[in-house]
Amino acid sequence: MKKIAAVILYILAVVLIIPLIAVLLTGGFFKCPTANGEFKEKINVYVTKEDAVKEMDTSQYLKEVVAAEMPADFSFEALKAQAVAARTYLISKSQKKENIPEHKGADVCTDYNHCKAWMSEEERKNLWEEDKRDEYWDKISRAVTDTAGKVLTYEDEPITAVFHSTSSGMTEKAEDVWGTDVAYLQNVESEGDELSPRYSSEFSCDITEYCEKIEQAVSGVDWSLGLFSDIVRSEAGGIISLKVGGVQIKGTQFREIFGLRSTNAEIERQDNTIIMTVKGNGHGVGMSQYGANYLGNSGKSYEEILSKYYPGTKLQ
Ligand SMILES: [Zn+2]
Repeated sequence: MKKIAAVILYILAVVLIIPLIAVLLTGGFFKCPTANGEFKEKINVYVTKEDAVKEMDTSQYLKEVVAAEMPADFSFEALKAQAVAARTYLISKSQKKENIPEHKGADVCTDYNHCKAWMSEEERKNLWEEDKRDEYWDKISRAVTDTAGKVLTYEDEPITAVFHSTSSGMTEKAEDVWGTDVAYLQNVESEGDELSPRYSSEFSCDITEYCEKIEQAVSGVDWSLGLFSDIVRSEAGGIISLKVGGVQIKGTQFREIFGLRSTNAEIERQDNTIIMTVKGNGHGVGMSQYGANYLGNSGKSYEEILSKYYPGTKLQ
């Protein structure tokens, strides 16, 4: 009798208990695949310029974000990397939506300065040349559907997948730009950025204009203490802080005052003119889009692109 009981127990274990444990461990029970393969079939989007919350198909929304954020003639692998970054961003915002009053209860908004750029399919298509519309939309659609449901995680949480147009040849650490260290947003060497039309730029103005612009934004300046001094740079070359008229300000504020493309600026005075020579475009943290395009064109996969720009993260 004992033998029979043991056999029954053994069969039960094989047939029921072991598969149950396996399913629980892999989270299989909690994954409910939707028709479009995304974490949710529909999301709520706060369309900022219309001041209205709209329900959208998740997959369609992601296509519209990728189309608005990256040129459609970029390499397919770079577009896939962008799709994963956009999805990861959406999930992380969606999880915190209760704490973001600007979203009026929605998962995400369409304000470029707050969340991600977004444009409806129709609006976007109208900006492309007519003979390219179908080809471009099809390419972007595939970038989203081929990566459906895939997100980047760090310690099992969706990451803050920030990106920028063009780096200076090395990405910035989050800590150097925003003051908070993030394990997966570190200095990464980035190739191919110099091929970007936004890699180098220059801003110049006369000293009077320079001083006026700074005085409008910074109080307590004393120009006898120097026009600019004590420049502290990050490893990637961006200005972390500097003194203007003896007052210390952040590199990000300096960038904003003069509308520079990045904080990676060489500042010099030539007679009565101040010349700023700038490298890169954007905050410089996370994935460089032009760098991603270069890697994609060099035969790297979107997985390789993502693990390069977000070191230590996992694609799940
Ligand atoms: Zn937002």
